Amino acid sequence: MNTKPLLAIIVFLISGVSGSWWMAQWLKDSETRVIEASFENDVARHTAALEREILLNLEILFSIKGALDVLPVLTEESFDVLTRDVLARTSAIQAFAWAPRVVHEARAQFELERQSDIPGFAITARSPTDAVVPAPVAPEYYPVYYIEPLRDNQAALGFDLSTEARRRAALLAARDQGEMVATAGIRLVQETSDQVGFLVFTPVYSGRPTDLASRRRELIGFFNGVFRLGDMFASAIETTDLDTMYLRLVDRTNGQNEVLLESGSLDDGQYSMTNAYRHTLSPIAGRQWEIQAVPNNAYVSSQRSWVPQMTLGGGLIITLLLSSYGLMVLRKNSQLKRAKDELEQISLTDGLTGVANRRHFDQHLDEQWQLSVRELGAISLLIIDIDHFKNFNDQFGHQAGDECLMKVARALNTVIKRPTDLVARYGGEEFAVILPNTTRADELAEACRERVEALRIENPRHGVKSVLTVSVGVSTMEPHRGSEFTDLIASADRALYRAKSSGRNRVEVA
Ligand code: GH3
Ligand code: MG
Ligand code: MG
Repeated sequence: MNTKPLLAIIVFLISGVSGSWWMAQWLKDSETRVIEASFENDVARHTAALEREILLNLEILFSIKGALDVLPVLTEESFDVLTRDVLARTSAIQAFAWAPRVVHEARAQFELERQSDIPGFAITARSPTDAVVPAPVAPEYYPVYYIEPLRDNQAALGFDLSTEARRRAALLAARDQGEMVATAGIRLVQETSDQVGFLVFTPVYSGRPTDLASRRRELIGFFNGVFRLGDMFASAIETTDLDTMYLRLVDRTNGQNEVLLESGSLDDGQYSMTNAYRHTLSPIAGRQWEIQAVPNNAYVSSQRSWVPQMTLGGGLIITLLLSSYGLMVLRKNSQLKRAKDELEQISLTDGLTGVANRRHFDQHLDEQWQLSVRELGAISLLIIDIDHFKNFNDQFGHQAGDECLMKVARALNTVIKRPTDLVARYGGEEFAVILPNTTRADELAEACRERVEALRIENPRHGVKSVLTVSVGVSTMEPHRGSEFTDLIASADRALYRAKSSGRNRVEVA
């Protein structure tokens, strides 16, 4: 089989398979990019919704604080009126509270006065075991004085906000900056579920202090909002939207990385991408929050199409079909070539003896003749005729004669050696041997004659024992342009005639 087309088919097969694979990968990658973009878009939408929700709640806090500022005296009654309706409408706001600054010297008097409305009122703190204990002695206290709605927030009443580190940090920052400041994520003292909350403090001063020293001096107390993150989150983002992803809210203030809230759990195996999408919220009351999200496997696979697989499958099928078609054609071709070779072989060989036939002889002699003309070489021709062959046929029959011809052909074939030499059946019982580039052809002719004689084929004549022999005419020429190879044949023929007429079983050179 020819290797070149086979190689081409193999190359085609390999490039077809890898091309289909590459195409499928490319489609899959672009699909992934589309899915990622749409996911990122979802996350951005959620981030914006949450941000809006938080800002809205802070805005409420801000407006109420504005109203408080213009009140001549803050009473429980007016505090209740200002906050009640808003609280009823927004579930994310757990409470509004008023926490005045109380210096240590006034503590006992302060507690006593409040006890007339709230029996047992005291400035309290939480022990390490979370028990309610009297606030430890300090220069100043910030106890929760009014809180709305009171019913759900009894537990917070009297709690000194400065006794807990996170609240204290936000509270002092709000006092010093004169701005709203949110705490880090905390567990609310009145919280019953396990959601995280945060407080936002707005400082209330007497007058309008403009520098740090006067702010510290003129501080009256804090109006604060108590927010529940879980509820805020729930009202901003549809729970069905979270079916497709894991999402969490992380507090990144001052480079920290504290998870405030998460939907589900990251390690339950259904999240494929390790790289989370991050969206930063704009700074809110001094805190820097970030949303981190990862799509789950179900989301990614639900968005995928069958196009990449189909492309791969289709590409492979087409490649295989074309390759096998190519192989089929190739096999057919080689079969055809073999048949053609066989035919050629048949048409060039003599059916009886297997040596070259007359056609082949003419072709070969013509070619070698032309070659000798070009290369200025010598070419020789032997014409070999079996002696008294008619006699042989007459005695042993035509079939034996044919077998005899075969033996003679084989014998002649053993004499010649070079690939360009050729033994041919020239006619009935005549053979010819073409010997290109040969000058001492008489020696080879003699060898042929001896080889046939050595076969010792009986050919008695008139009752006298004798063996089958041949006569050989030899001619050698150095052909020149314009000469014909028939000259060589004629010359060898003449030599053969001489060999016959001078007694047979001999070699004659022209
Ligand atoms: P000479 O020595 O002068 O060549 O005598 P000869 O008998 O060989 O010559 P002739 O030309 O008189 O006879 C040739 C014979 O060769 C005639 C024919 O019977 C025989 N012959 C030719 N072709 C074939 C063949 O294919 N098969 C057989 N069996 N005999 C053949
Ligand atoms: Mg003859
Ligand atoms: Mg003869």
